[in-house]
Amino acid sequence: MTNSTQVLELFVERIGLIKSYEESIALLSWDLRTGAPRKGMDVRSQSIGNLSGQMFKLATAPELGEWLTALEEPSAYEGLNEVHQRLVTETRKEYDRSVKIPPKMYQDYVVLTSQAETFWEEAKANNDYASFEPYLDKIITYTNQFIDLWGVKGTRYDTLLDMYEPGMTTEELDRVFGGLREKLVPLSAAIAASPHQPETGFLKQTYAKDSQKKFSKFILDQMGFDFNGGRLDESAHPFATGLNPGDVRITTRYLKDDVTSALFGTIHEGGHALYEQNIRQDLIGTTLCTGTSMGIHESQSRFWENVIGRSLNFWSRYYGDLQEHFPNQLDVPMEDFYRATNVVKPSLIRIEADELTYNLHIIIRYEMEKLIFNEGVKASELPKLWNEKYKEYLGIEPPTDAEGVLQDVHWSGGAFGYFPSYSLGNMYAAQMTETLEREMPDFWENVEKGNLHPIKEWLTDKVYQYGKLRTPSELINDITGKPLDPDYLVRYLEKKYTAIYKL
Ligand SMILES: [Zn+2]
Repeated sequence: MTNSTQVLELFVERIGLIKSYEESIALLSWDLRTGAPRKGMDVRSQSIGNLSGQMFKLATAPELGEWLTALEEPSAYEGLNEVHQRLVTETRKEYDRSVKIPPKMYQDYVVLTSQAETFWEEAKANNDYASFEPYLDKIITYTNQFIDLWGVKGTRYDTLLDMYEPGMTTEELDRVFGGLREKLVPLSAAIAASPHQPETGFLKQTYAKDSQKKFSKFILDQMGFDFNGGRLDESAHPFATGLNPGDVRITTRYLKDDVTSALFGTIHEGGHALYEQNIRQDLIGTTLCTGTSMGIHESQSRFWENVIGRSLNFWSRYYGDLQEHFPNQLDVPMEDFYRATNVVKPSLIRIEADELTYNLHIIIRYEMEKLIFNEGVKASELPKLWNEKYKEYLGIEPPTDAEGVLQDVHWSGGAFGYFPSYSLGNMYAAQMTETLEREMPDFWENVEKGNLHPIKEWLTDKVYQYGKLRTPSELINDITGKPLDPDYLVRYLEKKYTAIYKL
């Protein structure tokens, strides 16, 4: 008979082992995406698959279930510290989810989604939705089977949302996205009708990669990115990966003819990195040592990229530095640069969208996913529905499926329920900003002086340090005193674009 201290030791040791697998897999994947030799890719993918399989076994082993049950006994649970209590709750949730899926079924699904991603790439390149449709159909069928096995709480789509944004529901998203859509559609139309459209031609010149690199590093340093606990590399699509708080890696992409891509990409990923670098020491080596949800993570990247990085105050401090890096290209006044980097224009492609219309791209995907899982809409019906929604919300219609329903990778990997995170991030960021402005009256003055350190400290205190120790709704309530509310984002966008477009 083991007592609860021994059980706790075994449990914590197992979590540590799972975390080590996670870190190893993340490092192998980072390496694959940042210049690993092509010839080794197949073997590497196999290794990642093997390690993931082992990790899944460790995370679903019967003894882990027994330890959880023992630690959940009130007499044992009440003796645990805050971190261990949360670790038990979180692990139980994951455990119950994972053990409900038969291993063979899971394995088949993993094979299907890895194949589907290749077929999706081809279908997109050839603008051939019909060739991808059978795969998407199968992925939807599997996902529906998973939902049945997991058990439905609320609507079927809620079960998927909860994976990326714990506690989030369709009811809640209908409320916040409804509020957002109602205000953003007319605002976007008013902007399009404004005669004061910014001039952007000067952005499209040749910008030496070396200078872009230097400026990216400079800005990260200004934000408080710790280069002793992280690094900046290059990849086709920018991303951030937190191996542990002392090793956080981000990437960016340098385009020769566009200075803004690396600039804002770097600040965005830098925001993700600050989160991961500043998680509390006592969470290291546990599965709580990461962002609490995709939405809160996105709120941090978007806060730094948009609220700070696309503000007039920021550029009144840093435009001179940028000009020094590109003296021949940037001879326009700072205000022109600011306006040009804040252009709003309805477009077909989500990842190229501006800060405002981006949210409409997300609402469209959210509504599509709800139709698939709550209304039983079939894969064959998606292109038509997609195009109708673009016409309705953005006033434009994709001429091809490649620029429409085929543009995103998410569905080929089965990541249904992920898209809302992006807009949730915008909403959380705007809501937190109002609290920050109130609690730090010299916030904008700090930005204007390049005194960004107190801002990073405030976010560390309110968000970063907790990792997964607080849920998203606990965080937003604790910080702002209110639940998630779309009006903050609406107010922020209205104020910003009324000035830029003289509405
Ligand atoms: Zn991001």
